[in-house]
Amino acid sequence: MKIQNKITLLFMALTAGIILALSVFIYIFTSESISASFFHRLEVRADIVGHAALEENKYRTSVYYEIKERHLGDLPFEKHTISADLPDEKERKIFPMPASFYSEINKAVPVRFYQNDTSYVAVQIEKAGKELIVISSAVDLYGLEEMAELRKLLIIGFLIAMVFVFTFGKLFSEEVFKPIRRIIRNVKGINALNLHQRLAIDDSNDDVEALSRTFNEMLDRLEITFEMQNNFVSNASHEFKTPLTVISGEAELGLRTPGIPENALVSFRNIYQESEKLEHLASSMLSLAQTGFDGKKEEWNDIRIDELILSVKEAVDKIIADNKVGINFDSLPEDDRKLIVVGNKTLLTAAFTNIVLNSCKYSDNKPVEIIIRADGTYAIVEIRDEGIGIPEREIGQIFVPFFRASNTERYKGYGIGLPLAHNIVRLHQGKVEVVSRVGAGTRFTTFLPFRAF
Ligand code: ADP
Repeated sequence: MKIQNKITLLFMALTAGIILALSVFIYIFTSESISASFFHRLEVRADIVGHAALEENKYRTSVYYEIKERHLGDLPFEKHTISADLPDEKERKIFPMPASFYSEINKAVPVRFYQNDTSYVAVQIEKAGKELIVISSAVDLYGLEEMAELRKLLIIGFLIAMVFVFTFGKLFSEEVFKPIRRIIRNVKGINALNLHQRLAIDDSNDDVEALSRTFNEMLDRLEITFEMQNNFVSNASHEFKTPLTVISGEAELGLRTPGIPENALVSFRNIYQESEKLEHLASSMLSLAQTGFDGKKEEWNDIRIDELILSVKEAVDKIIADNKVGINFDSLPEDDRKLIVVGNKTLLTAAFTNIVLNSCKYSDNKPVEIIIRADGTYAIVEIRDEGIGIPEREIGQIFVPFFRASNTERYKGYGIGLPLAHNIVRLHQGKVEVVSRVGAGTRFTTFLPFRAF
């Protein structure tokens, strides 16, 4: 779960807890106070009824009742039971009070009991040496209604408050996380191709600023290491290239020498092919170092993809003389402007040569088909082979430098060719898609945006 959502939920749970506690407190407090006031009203009535019952003067008895009727009125379901003594077992069955209720009856304070919405009070009254006990009961309909109303109000209030808390909590957490999201977005945009980019720092003097600064410092260190590594690879491969060109040139010369014995011819051919391979590897490493860091050093021109593929075929022929690479022009677009891409010829040749050489290598020189076509945006080159394929769970890693799939022990390689091809295609705003089945073959489809016309 996102931290942002976690904060919203925590905020909601906290506020819900506080509102709930407050609601329960209000509810209990109101309920207690309503019930106390009703008990009090019932006690006053029980007292009047008791005094009226003890009065011997009939005139005064009627005065008591008149006061009760006129000034106090009847409570809902009001009932009074008067007895000279504590109620016996039979009488007690009429009321639901526990035995402790009766034992608490005394002259000093009335006893109260509440059950099934009905309030009960017991009052002991003494007058002129006579004593009696009045047990009165009534239902506080008005109080019950008021409590139901309060309950409804508190529940609705709670729900409305939760909606507000959720909305504001979300807005609040979104606001708080805005700078973090900006950092995530910026960091995602930084890769080997634009390692010089840095996060924008606003002088807020807070943790977010510290985080951005830390990221930038880390990027500084990464850039330096990357640059050192690239410089080393560039220099090393550059140093290899010159002697290798000399070796392959000399071998080519040897091949053309008239009357040369057969065994020397074989040796010269081997020297030529192997030095071409090494030269290709050296320029691949050089290109990988350059494109991986800053491809903008290169020269960009209009390039026809079909012509480029023909020069790729030539390069492959030099390295694998008996290759079975065929170019299929059947799907060429009618409008040949769709074949023109803006790019660097040397880099694109290196990219496609690597893919095609792989197809020959990993299919033990079985036929490889190159199809050139176009759609609304891209000039597309499909390279299909019938080779060993790539295990499904490793397909995602084949563009990682120095990665080699687990089924390649039989084949020589360094894991440089495909990352280079991938970098070059990305540098040209294109993409590479791979479909492969182990034992059946592999298809690399390269999409390069054609120049707008
Ligand atoms: P390598 O020097 O090992 O060929 P690459 O960078 O050219 O290095 O390729 C990376 C890995 O991708 C290879 O080791 C191989 O496992 C896999 N791969 C590339 N092309 C093919 C292909 N046509 N068929 C099968 N596997 C391939």
